[in-house]
Amino acid sequence: MRRRAEEREDDIKDSLQALFQHRSIHGKGDYYMLLKLKQMVVEYGEKIVKEGLVVATWGNLSAREEDEEIFVITPSGMNYHILEPEDIAAVDFAGKPIGTGRKPSVETPMHAAIYRARPDVKAIIHTHSINASACAAARVEIPCIMEDMASMVGGPVKVAEYAPTGTEQLAGNVLAALGDRNAVLLANHGVVTVGRCLEEAFKLSMMVEKTAEIFIKSRILGQPFSLSGEETCYLKDFYRRCYGQNMEK
Ligand SMILES: [Zn+2]
Repeated sequence: MRRRAEEREDDIKDSLQALFQHRSIHGKGDYYMLLKLKQMVVEYGEKIVKEGLVVATWGNLSAREEDEEIFVITPSGMNYHILEPEDIAAVDFAGKPIGTGRKPSVETPMHAAIYRARPDVKAIIHTHSINASACAAARVEIPCIMEDMASMVGGPVKVAEYAPTGTEQLAGNVLAALGDRNAVLLANHGVVTVGRCLEEAFKLSMMVEKTAEIFIKSRILGQPFSLSGEETCYLKDFYRRCYGQNMEK
């Protein structure tokens, strides 16, 4: 059951105190920015369950603000439907929790490693969606067979070598397979997408899952054709500069 308002107020005060002691938090403005980010993590946690990308407590997601070496991440083993913003843990880039809140996700080392290596990444979503997980189980990469995937992922979704969940070894394997693209499969485990915001990482999760399904079905019909490196580069650049309301030049 969701908690009472007074209990939530106490949690927020404790969390505020801990965050003020952290070097990256300079004032109330920063704190409320972080709280807003936590609210968004709760919101997108509900979305990944609703879309069937995860079941029960599996998967995890995180987000960070520009210029802050802190990220917020879902707690370990809690059902998405009961999460409140104050349940979302704040963690530094070494993967160390800030304050005394909930225990962060067991995949925190992987999230921290991605944020350290990829300054362009502001949000990470890890799911166990069915078709992407089927490719991960077979350890078969998802080739760049669809235009939307080429533009958003920037190439094939490669498979990170197997390592047990929650380990630094898995974090290293994920980084190696992710490179400068925006999605990666975790052998015998699931899929990770990264984006400039939670909305983009979520869109990628849905799109990679859809492409995995198309890939599997197209293998029934024959051999799917991959887009070339040049075609992929063009589509990626087009997406960054021209798609939707993007203003990037
Ligand atoms: Zn997982």
